[in-house]
Amino acid sequence: MVFAKLSGLKNGEITASDNIKDYLDFIKKKDNKINAFIAVNKNAAEDAKEVDKKLKSGKAGKLAGLAIAVKSNISVKGLPVTCASKALEDYKGTFDADVISKIRAEDGIIMGMVNMDEFACGISGETSYFGATQNPAAPGRVPGGSSSGSAAAVAADMCDLAIGSDTGGSIRNPASHCGIIGIKPSYGRVSRYGLVDMAMSLEGIGTLGRDVYGNALLMEVISGKSKFDAVTADNKVGKYTTELGKKKKLTIGMSEDFEKLCTDRRIYKAVESKAGKLAEVLGGKVRNVKMQHVDLAIQTYYPIVYVEFFSSTRKFDGRKYGRKIEDNCGEEVLRRILGGREISKAEYKGKYYRKALIARKIITKSFAEAFKGVDLIALPTTPMLPHRMGEVTDPRAAYAYDAFTVTANLAGICGGVFPAGKVEDAPVGLQLLAPCFCESNLLNAMHKLEQDL
Ligand code: GLN
Repeated sequence: MVFAKLSGLKNGEITASDNIKDYLDFIKKKDNKINAFIAVNKNAAEDAKEVDKKLKSGKAGKLAGLAIAVKSNISVKGLPVTCASKALEDYKGTFDADVISKIRAEDGIIMGMVNMDEFACGISGETSYFGATQNPAAPGRVPGGSSSGSAAAVAADMCDLAIGSDTGGSIRNPASHCGIIGIKPSYGRVSRYGLVDMAMSLEGIGTLGRDVYGNALLMEVISGKSKFDAVTADNKVGKYTTELGKKKKLTIGMSEDFEKLCTDRRIYKAVESKAGKLAEVLGGKVRNVKMQHVDLAIQTYYPIVYVEFFSSTRKFDGRKYGRKIEDNCGEEVLRRILGGREISKAEYKGKYYRKALIARKIITKSFAEAFKGVDLIALPTTPMLPHRMGEVTDPRAAYAYDAFTVTANLAGICGGVFPAGKVEDAPVGLQLLAPCFCESNLLNAMHKLEQDL
């Protein structure tokens, strides 16, 4: 776990070089089966040597010596930023994204670029041009997506922490399916500078890890105002790690309106029982909250994604970046480009996109109302278990996985996933949602759950 690892590194019990070497060995041993990494950072061992010097002189940063895997849609100078697409197969990052600069400034070591659904469009990790990622926690089943490689690399112990992006659940869904912890921050909490846009009004970069402390620490490092991203927040970013364990009265809500949408009762039961446990350790009871119109979330989310994705992919015309996207992408990416082109036509003005924006406001309001009565809302992460590889081919069936996660992106609030046990042989994650910029409440609640284990 990250806390113990960091103290080992500080005390000199292990060196950054040892840590990186261990992970390089694990990757060599395991990754031909898991397929989490698209590219391993060849300089990782060298970078570790530099960090060791700093550790010796007592000048090392907060992440000193930790191995961090990066989703392949986040720019790292000199490493392939492929978005797991043939269109960007040979494209290398020309600069470090804000989050990468911040990680490096605190002496975190970039372990490599990990697999994902192509251009972050997906729920399973199966649509990568570089092949599907396997689920280390439930062999034969999908790891979830789109941050499939981030979650699998963490779950298979091939790095300390990972960063991913979440536009409609891409951190939370794979965290749930792989049995780990993932945090999707509030919109504007973490700079998107250097992230290849999927749908810019919905997405954000967040963290995945095996423990709450690790997630909290990485969140502390990557969040904050950036001069390169105008929507980042100016309000003081909490020191999440020092907040952990502080006595706080937090109230938990659950909603029948979400329950109705859960197609697998066993998942709801597992999540309900974990939420009950959380309320108990917090010294309260689970309250019922009304969540109107959340049944419209998928229909609201997808038109917005299609239009924004279409717009953001116009730069991939084969001139500046890689190959022309339409001629080199998979089915799902093409569906969104063509769909986005269609519904953003002038003659459909107001019909789809505008309507979706109105529904988005209604859902946002519904959360604001609910949060007047509770601090956190507990719900499942996905309404179904991770399917077996290749089992889901209908896009509507795939989109249905997003029913519980897209709500947070529509409302711009923060959310996280904590393991809630297993159903059949597959991990199930409890999803907790908190109001915008209340990440510390989220992390605190998860910390309580972790202590209770
Ligand atoms: N599954 C959702 C989609 O395909 C979410 C993806 C994401 O968060 N990047 O749009």
